[in-house]
Amino acid sequence: MDQNQILFDRSKRAIPGGVNSPVRAFKAVGGTPRFVKRAQGAYFWDANDQRYIDYIGSWGPMILGHGHPEVLAAVQEAMTQGFSFGAPTEREVELAEAILSHLPSMDMVRLVSSGTEAGMSALRLARGATGRNKIIKFEGCYHGHADALLVKAGSGLATFGHPTSAGVPADVVKDTLVLTYNDVAGLEAAFAEFGSEIACIMIEPIAGNMNFVRASIPFMKACRDLCTRHGALLILDEVMTGFRVDLGSAQAVYAREIPGFEPDLTALGKVIGGGMPLAAFGGKRDVMEQLAPLGPVYQAGTLSGNPVATACGLATIRAIAKPGFFEALSQRTRALADGLREVGQEVGVPISTDSQGGMFGFFLLDQLPHNYGQVMQSNGEAFNRFFHGMLDRGVYLAPALYEAGFVSGAHTQADIEQTLQAAKEALQAL
Ligand SMILES: *Cc1c(COP(=O)(O)O)cnc(C)c1O
Repeated sequence: MDQNQILFDRSKRAIPGGVNSPVRAFKAVGGTPRFVKRAQGAYFWDANDQRYIDYIGSWGPMILGHGHPEVLAAVQEAMTQGFSFGAPTEREVELAEAILSHLPSMDMVRLVSSGTEAGMSALRLARGATGRNKIIKFEGCYHGHADALLVKAGSGLATFGHPTSAGVPADVVKDTLVLTYNDVAGLEAAFAEFGSEIACIMIEPIAGNMNFVRASIPFMKACRDLCTRHGALLILDEVMTGFRVDLGSAQAVYAREIPGFEPDLTALGKVIGGGMPLAAFGGKRDVMEQLAPLGPVYQAGTLSGNPVATACGLATIRAIAKPGFFEALSQRTRALADGLREVGQEVGVPISTDSQGGMFGFFLLDQLPHNYGQVMQSNGEAFNRFFHGMLDRGVYLAPALYEAGFVSGAHTQADIEQTLQAAKEALQAL
């Protein structure tokens, strides 16, 4: 009997769609979701005790692999001291200081419990601090499920968006402009028309919710310059890329190409919690001091700065800050990305790949895409067959073609080689 199927059938009676976050349901790729029993290092085991090499790592947080001894010890110790107090703790200060020490663009940071909260709160803060309502987001970027951000581009010339979810009133997204990623001219036109009304640009610097699409250097530069010129704030949504693509996050990668580059606000999540519900947003002191209790922008959370979650995040950040960690992670991730492309060449399937730090993308396309429309030209049906071919061979990739992949410090060269062998067989069978 397939225990995954048994659990899925049971789950579907109790939980809508059988899952607590939609992509887990395998709706895009078909088949039965794997119910995870346990995980260790680079692997997890499903309900049938089948082992998989894990390339989603909880969608990014597990950068050290599962059950890292230092993280485990920190969490176990914190647990014995209490789960939640609703009063401040020293560890929150330590985590805040650790985050700030790696992100020079931030003077202050507020801890929250999910990336959605981080993005939503950064948005409110940007609107509160500028006294403006309009915001710019880009098609294909995901910033969590706050109402104002669940929006897609309107048709024709209209740049103001339409809700992508039922239950979001059109009124709530009427101030959200949805533009094309990497389109400098489109961005300039939007600022030319609405410049004095725009509170912020919100952008994934490397868009992991389009698999893996980098903001080009001229595009990121335009985002920064236009915000500065028009008094808007630039918000980098680094919930996925933060502490994942570089110890200094994607903003450090861009600062190496654009001298002096800094966002005004940054949203963080995923890695900074090390697998626990923890996220954050931060920026310059004058903006952050607009937040309650100091300023007029309200934001709060019963479990914010949770003592067990902060212990997990702190141990994770300390471990990845050790000398050599990111170099080794980047090399291994690059070896996987390059290897996948080479395997594609060998078997005659065009594949393009890219990676930064411990995050990678691969497309069944002969060239890397630069925006959402190009990403969607990937052959979804071929991807789904490839996904299942890999799954059957014990490799767990993200179950959707528009999602990035993640390598952890626990993945070995042997894991990469096994993955590439599986990819070769799966591609040959396409
Ligand atoms: C995951 C993600 C979010 C949402 O975070 P949750 O913790 O799932 O609410 C927001 N922005 C980006 C870029 C993400 O990758």
